[in-house]
Order: sequence, then C-alpha cells, then structure tokens
Amino acid sequence: MTVELPIPESQAQVNAGANANLEPPASTPGSEPAKRQPTAAAAAISRRPQPASRSGSRTSDEESAPDWLAECTSNWETQSYANGQLPAAELCQLPDGIGQLEPAAAAAWWELDRRFRERFDEPVCVTDSYRSLSQQQALRAAKPGLAAVPGTSNHGWATALDLCGGIESFDSAEHIWLTQNAPRLGWANPSWAQRYGSKPEPWHWEFAQQ
Ligand SMILES: [Zn+2]
Repeated sequence: MTVELPIPESQAQVNAGANANLEPPASTPGSEPAKRQPTAAAAAISRRPQPASRSGSRTSDEESAPDWLAECTSNWETQSYANGQLPAAELCQLPDGIGQLEPAAAAAWWELDRRFRERFDEPVCVTDSYRSLSQQQALRAAKPGLAAVPGTSNHGWATALDLCGGIESFDSAEHIWLTQNAPRLGWANPSWAQRYGSKPEPWHWEFAQQ
C-alpha cells in the first residue's frame, strides 16, 4: 500500500517561476538553451552505430533528424510541377553532394541509410538521384537503350535513386538486405527492375508514399 505524499517540488517550481520574473535566473551550468540545438544536431549526425544491438533490434529510434532534412520538409505537391522541372529550393539536398530527393522520399531514405549503416558500417552508395528534364534528355541521347523516355522517369519526380557499393548486383549482401528492409520504409527495387522484370536494373530504387 502506498500513500500519496504532497510533492514539494511542484511548489518549488512555482516559486522559482515567480522569482524568474523578478530577477535574472541563477546560473545553471550545462543548461544553456542557446547552445542546445546545434550540439544535439551534431551529435545526431556523428553518432556511431551501436555495436550492442543484435540483428533486427531497434536501437536508435530516438535519433533526431539532421539539419539538412529538417530544413526541407515543406509540404508541396508534385502535381504543381512537371516531371524534371521541380524547383531545387523545394527539394532536399542530400548530404555529401549525393543529390536531391523530394522531402518524403528523403526522410524515408535517411532512415533507411541509418539502418544500412548499422548493418554494413558504411552509408548507402548513391550514384544518381533527381534528374532534371534536360539531364534526362542528355542521358537518353547517350544511352538510348537504358534511359527512360525523358519526362517519364521517377528520377524526374525526385523519388528515385540509383545505388552502388554492391547494391547494383542482385546477389550482393547489400542488395538482398535492401530488398528485405527498404519496402517497410517505402523504398523498393520496382518489379520491372527486378531480376525477372521487363528491364532488370538492380541499382534502381524508387520511393512510393506509404
Ligand atoms: Zn534509376
């Protein structure tokens, strides 16, 4: 049997709040709010994979989004634009100069990349992301059998990535891991690009809203 006791802390907080209006707050080492945000963001980016985790366990769900992602989560609608003519200011600029993705695709990719790092101790290798219409036209001219008809590629919607680092091979551990883990985050090697699809491209992955 427990007895609820009065909570003296709550009264102390009220008193402290009242005092705060009358005089500058006493110095409290380590709790300066102005320095919190960049410090926390830097920690989130530099945090290393946690070796204590066994396969499949979630160990870092509490990790906050990095600055590059937090800055691009505007809610725009793709219907407002044409394929390959998305304004750069509306897209997420992926770190390390990888390229650009539509905000929802970028958020899911960041989570997928984080889990990939925990498994393989390196980031997902990316060769290509958003392609403007002129880039699609140039690629079509250079590789007519490989590139999509300009204006129809999901790269033009900033929802596709071409991946490397082993992922471009169906039988690699990296590719197999992605096929098992990416779909739950909305990313997939689409059926047409799979081994027995109409145009096998193991490196090509697309994001679809869940
Ligand atoms: Zn592609």
